[in-house]
Amino acid sequence: MYDFLLSDEAKILKQKARKFASEVPHQLLIDMDADKIQFPTQFVKDLADAHLLGLRFDKKYGGQNLSWVSEMAVLEEIGVLSMALSCLYSLPSICGEALNEFGTDKQKEKYLRTIISGEKFCAEALTEPRGGSDFYGATTTAVKDGDQYILNGEKRFVVGAEGADFFLVYAKTDKNAPSYKSISMFIVERDMGVEEKYVYGLMGTRGGGAGRLYFKDVQVPAENIVLSEGDGGRIFNQMMYPERMTSAAGVIGMAKASIKASRALDFDATATRVILGTLAILPRRTTSWNGCVALLRPKEVGPGRAVGGQSMPRCNRRFPAAHNHRRTHRPEIATGPHARNCSQVYL
Ligand SMILES: Cc1cc2nc3c(=O)[nH]c(=O)nc-3n(C[C@H](O)[C@H](O)[C@H](O)COP(=O)(O)OP(=O)(O)OC[C@H]3O[C@@H](n4cnc5c(N)ncnc54)[C@H](O)[C@@H]3O)c2cc1C
Repeated sequence: MYDFLLSDEAKILKQKARKFASEVPHQLLIDMDADKIQFPTQFVKDLADAHLLGLRFDKKYGGQNLSWVSEMAVLEEIGVLSMALSCLYSLPSICGEALNEFGTDKQKEKYLRTIISGEKFCAEALTEPRGGSDFYGATTTAVKDGDQYILNGEKRFVVGAEGADFFLVYAKTDKNAPSYKSISMFIVERDMGVEEKYVYGLMGTRGGGAGRLYFKDVQVPAENIVLSEGDGGRIFNQMMYPERMTSAAGVIGMAKASIKASRALDFDATATRVILGTLAILPRRTTSWNGCVALLRPKEVGPGRAVGGQSMPRCNRRFPAAHNHRRTHRPEIATGPHARNCSQVYL
């Protein structure tokens, strides 16, 4: 974001975020990329401790009453680190939007306040195994039973699921209603009986805690509905503001770092070979953001393939056959002794 768009306050905040990003251990990015860390709990807690979360929200709930622009300026700096970390930064903004706009005082106190302070982590459960584009075609159901709802169904690609204490879940409450009034949103705590599994061999955005959720007769107190029955569509449309804004801001951060990193790249013969070696594996495995370290290896590594002249090692990890995951190649490009990534070049 151009500095002239920023207030003095936002500029200071942006600098603070850049400093924060520069202090995030490089090893964290490497471990996330290698699937050794699936949810970087400390990173989110550190963001909260630095008062960088939920900037737009009311001070009453721990926010700072700042503008969208300020929050996006911060996120742009966090985006330099990785897609996964910028997604995790975004979650209190996205989930917070629903709670802030539509939650009761009690819900705000219990959930909004705690995600801003880093005491609790949240995630948004929208996408289903059948697909995510057709929001109103959701098949997860919530049936009223006295003073609770019984939830059944599955959600997938839920970023932050691995660490989340509660989920904002969209479920069908009235199959016969017009689609835009057929869905409701519920605050569902993990401890209410949500089963969560890490089932993915992601090609990128690793370490963001993306998980699959299973609801089998999960009992949710009726007071955990957000707004009223049938208001899920309205909430969804509101949540799409931060959803889109945060996606864009994070990506701008990444793009800036990529451009700087590519300029820093020394296009000698060695580097060219490294790039060609990397491209050769792309049909089978897309390099991740963090994986772009292969392209940024310093010159002194010498000729050869991506890791000090050795062949690409194969990954032994098998993903559950039930989910049709292929045995994937996991070259050690991110863990080599000379590995650098785009954020290191940028920061
Ligand atoms: C970085 C990232 C983070 C995410 N985080 C979350 C999260 O936290 N929580 C969550 O619930 N989900 C999350 N998602 C999932 C996201 O919401 C879905 O990927 C999205 O809704 C699209 O759904 P889908 O991937 O199932 O694709 P599908 O809906 O299966 O669509 C596949 C393709 O078909 C096209 N298509 C679909 N319908 C039609 C049509 N009628 N006509 C023509 N073309 C069509 C789509 O454009 C797309 O190209 C995340 C995704 C990403 C990439």
